[in-house]
Amino acid sequence: MTFYSGRHFLQIPGPTNVPDRILRAIDAPTMDHRGPKFGQLGLAINAGLKRIFQTQQPVVIYPASGTGAWEAALVNCFSPGDKLLMVETGHFASLWQKMAGKLGLQVELIATDWRRGADAAAVEAKLREDKAHAIKAVCVVHNETSTGVTSRIPLIRKAIDAANHPALLLVDTISSLASIDYRHDEWGVDVTVAGSQKGLMLPPGLSFNAVSEKARKAAQSAQLPKSYWAWDEMIAAGKSGYFPYTPATNLLYGLHEAIAMLQEEGLQQVFARHARHAEATRRAVRAWNLEILCTNPEEYSNTLTAVMMPAGQDADALRKTILEAYDMSLGTGLGRLAGKVFRIGHLGDFNDLTLMGTLAGVEMGLALAGVPHKKGGAQTAADYLVECARGRSAQRIAA
Ligand SMILES: *Cc1c(COP(=O)(O)O)cnc(C)c1O
Repeated sequence: MTFYSGRHFLQIPGPTNVPDRILRAIDAPTMDHRGPKFGQLGLAINAGLKRIFQTQQPVVIYPASGTGAWEAALVNCFSPGDKLLMVETGHFASLWQKMAGKLGLQVELIATDWRRGADAAAVEAKLREDKAHAIKAVCVVHNETSTGVTSRIPLIRKAIDAANHPALLLVDTISSLASIDYRHDEWGVDVTVAGSQKGLMLPPGLSFNAVSEKARKAAQSAQLPKSYWAWDEMIAAGKSGYFPYTPATNLLYGLHEAIAMLQEEGLQQVFARHARHAEATRRAVRAWNLEILCTNPEEYSNTLTAVMMPAGQDADALRKTILEAYDMSLGTGLGRLAGKVFRIGHLGDFNDLTLMGTLAGVEMGLALAGVPHKKGGAQTAADYLVECARGRSAQRIAA
């Protein structure tokens, strides 16, 4: 085995690098989850999560990966045979769709070429056709992690309203929450699904459902079997900061710390930082003369960039070269994109120099692997970051 000195660069779009502060918070004795101190922790977390989801509604926390929270959203809202309208923006949307099928739901799918987000006009047209209101929900992945495309949820909300359709709106924010602006209440979302290991900077193992009143009403008559995932007991216990079953106590210590970190930086600053790093990355990709998978600049993801390989070049061979030579993990191409793209994660606990290390590693890897490209992408990104830093220091002086 080769020995690698220094820190591994974990630049996949989740799990992300866990900051030392969070690791230290997790490294504490597990407490009695029915004891008096636990309720205080639970209440503080609930209040913090509401700010992050931008909601006044309850946020249910599961000891599960994001996939568990997908299942929770479906089994709480629907009955066997219910029809859902889903937009296949990429690999994650198609996994959610497959899950719905396995649970006995019918899915009407709006297909895409995996290079763009959910088309609000197509959603509106499908809902207008559905005069009988057979469609019970529209399900969209906010940030499609397989493609680096962010769908515009406010436009989907508008489409549902324009069609005057009662469907619920379910949104997966697993790779956008706490990195890209997201507003559960203002955007009229009924269930927001999220996970711990991406923008929240935690290890894998927690996931979330933010639940609107309308969704809770739907849950009262929903007939799909559920017990572990059932919202009612979770929400009832959550009012006093507790859980009906043993929570992932130490991950909750970490979540408490993650919320503190996001608050110290300020959510708007967190979003601006992700936007800056995403823009710098795209400038690097263009300077390399490589192509960004996302074709709509209004839908570029701020948490990851999927980069297309030149014809005849294997993305996984490049990733292997970079891992072996520079100890950096990049995201693989998923589903139909296997071998065709690699994904650069630029989210979570991240700064200008982490990005520069990442982009330098990619550029050195392109050279080492013999992938045709132009040099200077990392320098182009650096120039942009310098410009941004100059702007920030001018603002500080003006203030
Ligand atoms: C990571 C991810 C998932 C899957 O979550 P797991 O934690 O792996 O179960 C689902 N949707 C999106 C958009 C993701 O990025």
